[in-house]
Amino acid sequence: MKTVETLTEARKPVILIVDDIPVNIQLIQGYLTAVGYQTVVAQNGEEAIFRVREALPDLILLDVMMPKINGLETCRILKRNQQTQHIPIIMVTALNELDDKIRGIEAGADDFISKPFNRLELLARVKSLLRLKHYYDQLQEKIRLLEQAKEQLRTLAVTDGLTGVYNYRYFREYLAQEFRRAERHRLVVSLVMLDIDFFKKYNDTHGHQAGDEVLKVVARLMKNNTRAIDVVARYGGEEFILVLPETKKASAAIVAEKIRKLVASHIFPHKRGQANGHLTVSVGVSSYPEDARTSDTLIQCADQRLYRAKEAGRNRVVDQ
Ligand code: GH3
Ligand code: MG
Ligand code: MG
Repeated sequence: MKTVETLTEARKPVILIVDDIPVNIQLIQGYLTAVGYQTVVAQNGEEAIFRVREALPDLILLDVMMPKINGLETCRILKRNQQTQHIPIIMVTALNELDDKIRGIEAGADDFISKPFNRLELLARVKSLLRLKHYYDQLQEKIRLLEQAKEQLRTLAVTDGLTGVYNYRYFREYLAQEFRRAERHRLVVSLVMLDIDFFKKYNDTHGHQAGDEVLKVVARLMKNNTRAIDVVARYGGEEFILVLPETKKASAAIVAEKIRKLVASHIFPHKRGQANGHLTVSVGVSSYPEDARTSDTLIQCADQRLYRAKEAGRNRVVDQ
């Protein structure tokens, strides 16, 4: 016997047969399983709704005349629900009455077949609606992949490729937004700007690749030792910045000092035979509204203090 083309796919189409008379179910089930469809059955509307949620069928053959919740009402319920409304429903009507069909269409049915039905007609209608369902599923999958790609792009656009922390652009956007929030709610915001000391020398001695590894480690140390709401960003080549929302100067200085110590005690990769794998950072801290009134001047202030930390001998935090 010729089997349906969909059988070549990984999942055989699942068809839910709903009828209150077991003989009817058996008849339809026989026709469908003979060509390779999987079937699930239900004997009333309530059971049908339960089976739909459980088995997520690709198609429903729904008898109109049933006790309690009849076929029309079952159809309405399934078509109202977002999770089930895309599943095609073929109404099985006892009479070939126009009235039945109109009410069926109003209830959301996708097709009809009248009892007693012809086997080939039944299979043809099933096949045609399964094809539609298959297109729908493919479309859903494509939409899902597109959303996923969009999300990845969004992430890429705000991420520094080397270190995985936020990039400069995101930092500026975020700080501007945080400033508006701080102004409106009279909150404080602190900045911690950090620059690796004598990094050029490290690169010259150990190579650019080893330098890149250092940048990744420093970014990770910053990320792992700050709160989830703090924003760590790569400000420039070997400079990082940390935005600490709702954080006063004193607390920001403590965070800055913690990171300085962590970097100073970290053993970075170095060439074999070379004993000193240590690096240090200089750090500038500034706070709104204490030190500046705008995001630009707050950044400038942190930058100036970072410069003063360098001048004063590096490996230190300057916050005044
Ligand atoms: P200072 O203590 O005054 O900051 O000295 P420095 O050598 O760190 O500062 P300088 O600004 O002279 O040099 C910064 C160096 O950082 C130069 C450059 O080679 C290195 N650098 C910048 N971006 C990257 C990067 O993405 N990867 C690596 N490996 N090195 C980088
Ligand atoms: Mg430097
Ligand atoms: Mg620098």
